[in-house]
Amino acid sequence: MRAFTLAALFAAACLSVTAAAVTAAPAQGTNPAADVDGARIAHPAAGEWLDNGRSYFEQRFSPLKQINTANVKDLGVAWEYRTYSTRALEGSPVVVGGVMYVTAAWSKVWALDAKTGKEIWAYDPQVPGAWGRYACCDVPNRGVAVWKGAVYVGTLDGRLVKLDAANGKPVWDINTIDRKRAYTITGAPRIVDGLVVIGNGGSEFDARGYISAYHADTGKLAWRFYTVPGDPRKKPENPAMAAAMKTWSPASRWWKMGGGGSPWDSMSYDPALDLLYVGTGNGAPWDRNDRSPGGGDNLYLSSILAIHAKTGQLAWYYQTTPGDTWDFDSTSHMILADLTIDGRLRHVLIQAPKNGFFYVLDRATGKLISAKPFAVMNWATGIDPKTGKPIENPGARYKDKVTVVMPQETGGHNWQPMAFSPETGLVYIPAMDGAAIFAPSEKFVWKPRAWNTGNDFAAVSKAVMAAIQSGKPPPPSTGYIKAWDPVAQKEVWHQQLGGNWNGGLLATAGGLVFGGGADGIFAAYNAKTGEKLWSIDLKTGILAPPVSYAVDGQQYIALLAGWGGAGGLASLKDPTTAVVRTGTNQGRLFVFKLGGKQQVAALQPEGNPNVEPPPQTADAATIAKGFDAFHRNCTVCHGFFAESDGVLPDLRTVPPEIWSQYDNIVLGGALADGGMASFKDLLKKDDVTAIRAYVLDRAHALWDAKKHPQKAAK
Ligand code: CA
Repeated sequence: MRAFTLAALFAAACLSVTAAAVTAAPAQGTNPAADVDGARIAHPAAGEWLDNGRSYFEQRFSPLKQINTANVKDLGVAWEYRTYSTRALEGSPVVVGGVMYVTAAWSKVWALDAKTGKEIWAYDPQVPGAWGRYACCDVPNRGVAVWKGAVYVGTLDGRLVKLDAANGKPVWDINTIDRKRAYTITGAPRIVDGLVVIGNGGSEFDARGYISAYHADTGKLAWRFYTVPGDPRKKPENPAMAAAMKTWSPASRWWKMGGGGSPWDSMSYDPALDLLYVGTGNGAPWDRNDRSPGGGDNLYLSSILAIHAKTGQLAWYYQTTPGDTWDFDSTSHMILADLTIDGRLRHVLIQAPKNGFFYVLDRATGKLISAKPFAVMNWATGIDPKTGKPIENPGARYKDKVTVVMPQETGGHNWQPMAFSPETGLVYIPAMDGAAIFAPSEKFVWKPRAWNTGNDFAAVSKAVMAAIQSGKPPPPSTGYIKAWDPVAQKEVWHQQLGGNWNGGLLATAGGLVFGGGADGIFAAYNAKTGEKLWSIDLKTGILAPPVSYAVDGQQYIALLAGWGGAGGLASLKDPTTAVVRTGTNQGRLFVFKLGGKQQVAALQPEGNPNVEPPPQTADAATIAKGFDAFHRNCTVCHGFFAESDGVLPDLRTVPPEIWSQYDNIVLGGALADGGMASFKDLLKKDDVTAIRAYVLDRAHALWDAKKHPQKAAK
């Protein structure tokens, strides 16, 4: 008989408790999501991840602690699954009953055995590739919602689809958008009171933002809440729209341009208050002078909205950036938590939006409790505690001059989710520091379904070039994990990451914080001190947040790796700080466990042959015209100065036959299925000739630099 020590007995007891609290592997032919309802999403079992941020409170905290500070050094890859995509992966898997539901680029969905990675089913909503032109920031999807045996996904082209969770077959597939406008869906739906709630994006284009709730069983619309007012000559949809109307100036007819306010990502829900919280985006156009020339707060742009979930009526709002003009969306992740502040238990909502302030609000009333800067900023000096409004710096509203604004337009913090640990009381923020350059268009001309920011990206690019040539390049962009005390409103620790545009975060009861970066490094940190305890090189840039779950008594960490998005496609490259791993960028889901041994192989690029570009025949004037046309029409996907980060093909090194196909591709839409839509509504043949000449000029510069590296260095 084996001798038992007290320690062994204790360990055995802990293991059995853990095993009882977690889910078992799925039985054949069953529907693991069958009994998921509001009560379960509010309080998931320890081993489950039932909503985008795990539960309605969206804390992204897993109570599992099998993986902890003492043993995380033994973490390794249990299995991986390839998505066969090279675009941004931003999803949070949902895990129920031992099955993982995960989404990837172009709104594709998979059900996988969460223990082994074996595919159970796959669903492709067949999003038309040409719709990619209407997406500001790549073609990602951030996840599904599950409810009573079904899986719900929003598609890039604005549909909401209900799938049978057992087999992936569509039950219904409905349109949620005005298809004449450049709306997209990239966010995950949430399900409350039997209603599937979904927003949309499009405020860089021509959208009027709104959030819709559909009956989960039938797909019938229950309510819709617009986030900005419509045509003032018509009766406002509700009292909230009547109130908002007074904060806009009609001179430029914002309702024709869209107005913006897209609720494209974050939501959370408090069942006790039956309040659904929704974050809204920037104005369309960005520049308030073009959108509401008389000024005004422009409700409900860049706001946190509390909506009665059953009726769709507004309960309260808090506008983080009144009269936004800097692309300061307030769509960042919102965490609900209960904190003791000044000796009182407060039920709070926490958000760290793009504008760089960390907000703690009373979530019943929307009243400001506190707000402090968590990122470097020059647009405001603080928040007035009485009004809750920012104290703006004069000159931050750029009007008619090129202006440098911090944080950058991708934000002090963007959509990449934070995490909150009730054990440390800290919020972990994937934070950024960096500067944006705003160059207002001299004569803003609004165009349907096109980029309509009111900012001239050709002028921005020239300002950047001039700054580099003068020896004073723009300040480097940096990325961090910041541990923030939401009660004291101060930083407790930070870790600087390799790049600026990094992944979302996870906190666990094992005393750990997990997160990945642009450099492909995925790491675990001590939640109290920030000490790095473990890391692995996944050889692909990381944007997505990790999640944790358990099957058959084993804890797992899951993470999608695949770079891109707003900060990936068109970031201004700073060779001294940009540490990005997109050489291959082939999307993969990695799942980790203690003792996992699988090696991470670098995948070969599906590359472009690097042959000498054809001769340049265009004159300098044509190339200069091409510079402007490229930066006004192509930059947001193909990069400043035609430099790709590897998410989309680098236009300077395309296969030789592409050079003779510019008209067919750019005007004729020959590559529309792959995501390159026709631009014949925006560009003429001589524009395309000029763009080709400019890109060819850049291709020759790259070729010469490779051939004569010493000459190029001088
Ligand atoms: Ca935006």
